[in-house]
Amino acid sequence: MTFQSINPYSQQRLKSYRADSAAALERKLKQADRAFTDWSALSLAERVGYLRRVGQYLSDHKGSLGDLITAEMGKTRKEGAAEVEKCATSCTYYADHADMFLADQSIDIDQHNRAFVTHQPLGPVLAIMPWNFPFWQVFRFAIPGLLAGNVGLLKHAPNVFGCAVAIEDVFRQCGLPGGVFQSLLIDVAPVERILDDKRVRAVTLTGSGRAGSSVAGIAGRAIKKSVLELGGSDALIVLADADLERAAETAVKSRMQNAGQSCIAAKRFIVEKSVKKQFTELVLHHIRQINQGDPMDDTTTMGPMARPDLADAIERQFDESVANGAKSLTGPVLRNGCNVQPMLLDRVKPGMAAFDEETFGPIAALIEAKDAADAIRLANQSDFGLGSALWTKDLDRADRLARQIQAGSVFVNGLMRSDARVPFGGIKNSGFGRELSEIGMKEFVNVKTVWIE
Ligand code: NAP
Repeated sequence: MTFQSINPYSQQRLKSYRADSAAALERKLKQADRAFTDWSALSLAERVGYLRRVGQYLSDHKGSLGDLITAEMGKTRKEGAAEVEKCATSCTYYADHADMFLADQSIDIDQHNRAFVTHQPLGPVLAIMPWNFPFWQVFRFAIPGLLAGNVGLLKHAPNVFGCAVAIEDVFRQCGLPGGVFQSLLIDVAPVERILDDKRVRAVTLTGSGRAGSSVAGIAGRAIKKSVLELGGSDALIVLADADLERAAETAVKSRMQNAGQSCIAAKRFIVEKSVKKQFTELVLHHIRQINQGDPMDDTTTMGPMARPDLADAIERQFDESVANGAKSLTGPVLRNGCNVQPMLLDRVKPGMAAFDEETFGPIAALIEAKDAADAIRLANQSDFGLGSALWTKDLDRADRLARQIQAGSVFVNGLMRSDARVPFGGIKNSGFGRELSEIGMKEFVNVKTVWIE
């Protein structure tokens, strides 16, 4: 069996990858198991040294690695290089903070007894990852996971197997022992067998709800820890007192970056009635500035979608929403293969695909709210609960309202984003568990109590 990596802009085949045979897979599992013994026995300072080298390597090679991302999934060169740089700075962040995050905690019991809590690695962790941020999704698991002493087995999406191979090579070039990080060139069929294998101790999945439900089911049966980072339909709420210019510019950036293929893109713009007309005009202005085209051309600000079937899905969601009463402010779908022009839908309501489903492409939805309470109600009327944004100049009110939004994050007057310093993850159908920060690092450790009398 072979996998094809295809450039979404030109539709040219970049490379084929032969699937790992059952014997190759067994070799990789054995190697991961062996590598874990030695890697987890290193001091934290030694592992930190390796990860600092990884950060430097990524920063030094962000141009070529970013171009590989662009070739395989279509984001612009600037976005590709920025993604690799974000992985590099996160290596430095965790290298600087790992000893604080993983430090033993002593607990006072009484004058005769004492106890402490120590954080120990679990073993080989399977990471199932999507193509939309093919480096960042992998590194945001791998950096804290490896620093904690675990080893990684990556099952990447087949359209970015070039990135999967390159990431394994980054760790090799930086001198990490063989087996500490390996890419498995497989489709979904062997995942159940891998998760059932006693040597694999946990799984993290970033992807769709369908994939998450299946993988968490298998992990649950095998009594293995899982973290799920799934889809979102983030609300961006604009209240009447907001800085409309900044809100509109940020809304369009949030929605259209990466050709709309971001789990935390602002997918539903929920706007108070009194400012909706003005906000809509500003949004349209910013959408018209977008230059969709060849992602290798430095004047392009939005590349193609990553695969034709993803563009088909966004076209269907547009058509169904319009058939149910939404109004397109950008005309009909303008599409050439994976190249889809940005779209803006007005009069979007619950019951329409653009409200109820995750739209994973360049389509923004405008939703009118009567007042702030109505805006919160509409924001929460979703099966998802990943990120969100709230725009208002009244920060006391923002503090109150942010607590009412059903989501893993609320960004007030700013771009919803992931950042190594703060926890990232969702509630409801957006998944469970957290990545990043100290909390993310502790998802895959044994929090061990030692009680001494
Ligand atoms: P997807 O189809 O679920 O694929 C993601 C990964 O899961 C791929 O490696 C895929 O492998 C694998 N997979 C799919 N079905 C599986 C199964 N039954 N068992 C085991 N593995 C399985 O997701 P996608 O549509 O490509 O990616 C976009 C989705 O990811 C969106 O919903 C997006 O919101 C979400 N996402 C979430 C976050 C977050 O942090 N919350 C970040 C980025 C993306 P194959 O490709 O071989 O099927």
